[in-house]
Amino acid sequence: MIPVTKPYFPSREKLDKYIDGIYERQWLTNNGVLVQELTRRLEEYLGVENLLLVSNGTLALQIAYRALGVSGAGPGERPEAITTPFTFIATASSLKWDGIEPVFVDIDPETWCLAPGNIEAAITPNTRAIVPVHVFGNACDVEAIDSIAKKHDLKVIYDGCHAFGVKYKGESLLKHGDAATLSFHATKLFHTAEGGAIIFKRKEDLERAKKMINFGITGPETIEEIGINAKLNEFQAAMGLCVLDEIEQIVRDRQCVTEIYDSCLGDKVQKQRIQTGISYNHAYYPIALKDENQLITVMSSLRDCGVLARRYFYPSLESVTCLDAGYSDCPESRKLAERIVCLPIYSELRTEELINIAEKVLEACE
Ligand SMILES: *Cc1c(COP(=O)(O)O)cnc(C)c1O
Repeated sequence: MIPVTKPYFPSREKLDKYIDGIYERQWLTNNGVLVQELTRRLEEYLGVENLLLVSNGTLALQIAYRALGVSGAGPGERPEAITTPFTFIATASSLKWDGIEPVFVDIDPETWCLAPGNIEAAITPNTRAIVPVHVFGNACDVEAIDSIAKKHDLKVIYDGCHAFGVKYKGESLLKHGDAATLSFHATKLFHTAEGGAIIFKRKEDLERAKKMINFGITGPETIEEIGINAKLNEFQAAMGLCVLDEIEQIVRDRQCVTEIYDSCLGDKVQKQRIQTGISYNHAYYPIALKDENQLITVMSSLRDCGVLARRYFYPSLESVTCLDAGYSDCPESRKLAERIVCLPIYSELRTEELINIAEKVLEACE
């Protein structure tokens, strides 16, 4: 079977060296040396400051909401955040989990990211934040979103879980917003098995979040506020340090996969329009087919030859009833979600396999 993605496994020897160190120091968690080292190296690699490692990408979002004062409702308050329906469930469910109502606003049919032009109509007196997603690593229209946020005094938390290493106008895309979050889940471009990070614009928000991820404990006998446990541990950091050494090769491998697919598929399938001025990370290879029927034909024809393509992201989240987001019609997202599929992308895929996958897609499209 060819899966849609495969976690990257770094050299066992290298990982063992880090694990030897963990055994020598007898230090497993609570801001250990490897967590500190990974924090520094990620800040350097990404070109950012104020990075906080946390235990996963979902908690990264939740801690960011808390640290920025988006969640935490007083009596009678019903905080809302404007977000995109075309994303992984965690973007919206983390809001709901934290007592913030997700308000879905439709996407741009070309870039597949939240359309800034739709945001202002959805702002109410309860709106506290905008939570856009750099979906598949494409950059949101950060200038437009940031200026709407400024005008209405809203916080911006970018779900940057797909945007590891993406540069925009020569700088990290993750510098935009009051915070941007990352997921280091096993299937993501860069991973620590499970893990995540928050990049804060301001140092004081980073400091508040640091306390929050360790139960609000600030000293041996002091608890300043209610926190949670969202720490990354030394084994996870060891994995991250090994994967980070290989990240440039991982991106290059995926770029090769992309180029082969591109040359076989040409303009016979619709692709995401990547914003100008970004360096793309090739984390995913999504294609949009003509309609859902064609998508089902493509997926079953791939499955017949042992290839598992996946529907990212389906269904469009405004239709997920447990989110209870009220009525918010998002036709562009709904239509896109019906016809989009991600093709396999990871380092070990061979050229013949990729050509074969692309041929199957084209056959099924006829
Ligand atoms: C993976 C992902 C998350 C959740 O990250 P976890 O580390 O799995 O908790 C959130 N948002 C998006 C867009 C994701 O792709």
